[in-house]
Amino acid sequence: MVEVSNLKKSFGTLEVLNNVSFEVKKGEVVAVIGPSGSGKSTMLRSLVHLEQVSGGSICVEGDYLVKEGVYTNQQGIKRVTSKMGMVFQHFHLFPHLTVRGNLELAPRLVKGETKEESRKKAEELLQKVGLADKAEVYPAKLSGGQKQRVAIARALMMSPAIMLFDEPTSALDPELTGEVLQVIKQLAREHMTMIVVTHEMGFAREVADQIIFMDNGEIIEVGTPDQLFLNPRFERTKAFLQRSL
Ligand code: ATP
Ligand code: MG
Repeated sequence: MVEVSNLKKSFGTLEVLNNVSFEVKKGEVVAVIGPSGSGKSTMLRSLVHLEQVSGGSICVEGDYLVKEGVYTNQQGIKRVTSKMGMVFQHFHLFPHLTVRGNLELAPRLVKGETKEESRKKAEELLQKVGLADKAEVYPAKLSGGQKQRVAIARALMMSPAIMLFDEPTSALDPELTGEVLQVIKQLAREHMTMIVVTHEMGFAREVADQIIFMDNGEIIEVGTPDQLFLNPRFERTKAFLQRSL
């Protein structure tokens, strides 16, 4: 469903992604782990064209965003990026809109959905993330965990084929991470295809089909949770896991 090959990206002289290649199959949950600065966010942001790569290919459901370093046209970029929903560490909700407003904005604006259609979907999704009673509330009145659940519901409003999460719980107090991880786990049970950058090793181990370990702009190792956690092949993976567990 997602094929990434030989991605390259630099910021000035700093090489941030160096030949990053991986594949995500439909229904799979892939967790991405690795030290700070290893390129996890840059990789994720490249998939949704928040960063431009200098080489390599990104293909989603047979549609190329970039092929051997050459980007498709504007329309193609929209088509590919609209297949993906992204959730950030810091929520990025619109502060001047209610929860319902946050959910309904993009479907109305981008997809031209009617008020009735988007309202119905918003109600279903708020129910799903346990916030049915918060539709008329502004983000400032919500806890971090509630904000992140709104951000997840908002991304789901566009019916993405794949969800991308960049450390969705890192900005939360420990007692609020559980409620967000529960929502992601529920999506996994429903076979949503997902890429989750996370520091939550227990969660990665429990939910992921594959774990990607990145260090210094490269994918060092890919494996099932058992392979990676119980029997890492590389010293760098071992050292990172020892520091993180
Ligand atoms: P963290 O776990 O701290 O979120 P990360 O693995 O997500 O780290 P990235 O944010 O992808 O790492 O950053 C990779 C490298 O690229 C870092 O050295 C970072 O300083 C650098 N970098 C990221 N964004 C920019 C930018 N806009 N301009 C210059 N350098 C950048
Ligand atoms: Mg990051």
